[in-house]
Amino acid sequence: MAKYKDAVCRLCRREGSKLFLKGTRCYTPKCAISRREYAPGQHGQGRIKLSDYGLQLREKQKLKRIYGVLEKQFRNYFKTANKSKGVTGEILLQLLERRLDNVLFRSGLANSTADARQVIAHGHVKINGRRNDIPSYSVKVADAVKIGNKEGIIKHIKSNIELTKDRGIPKWMAVDTNGLEVKIVKFPSREDIGFPIQEQLIVELYSK
Ligand code: SF4
Repeated sequence: MAKYKDAVCRLCRREGSKLFLKGTRCYTPKCAISRREYAPGQHGQGRIKLSDYGLQLREKQKLKRIYGVLEKQFRNYFKTANKSKGVTGEILLQLLERRLDNVLFRSGLANSTADARQVIAHGHVKINGRRNDIPSYSVKVADAVKIGNKEGIIKHIKSNIELTKDRGIPKWMAVDTNGLEVKIVKFPSREDIGFPIQEQLIVELYSK
């Protein structure tokens, strides 16, 4: 899979919000967006009026970056959402939110989606008792996501829980911080997805 290799803090600064892409550093005063809250580049501090297309594009980029998915994968999520019954933008958000790497991040067991992906890819996660190493796995209601019992990973996850404890846990999951387990209690609704995103702009962009 292709990977974004540039400085990830630039992505947060470009979107004007903390996307938690760098793990531990995001929770400290060293966070780049706390120190330089303007877009990167020569014209970053100037005021640029975006066209309608520009606004739609920015919103799409922001959402892709929040979940760490690349264009092709993102477009596939959109196609699935578009074919499903219901409000396309909300279904798109729900599909992204249900990714296994996002579950680890939102539950506080991982400090970023990149960290979550590494934990999953190294085989430290079980779903309903079976090992699952697919970060894009889409969780279902009643799934139990559990961290393995190797000493190193337990230590890492516990330090993540401590680091992320003030972030809050979404209502669609229940987290057992002692057993290092997450239960999916319902599918995420629009209200459960707390960050400011105007998904309608993305639907408009792809519907042209
Ligand atoms: Fe974003 Fe984290 Fe960098 Fe802050 S430290 S700008 S939240 S990636």
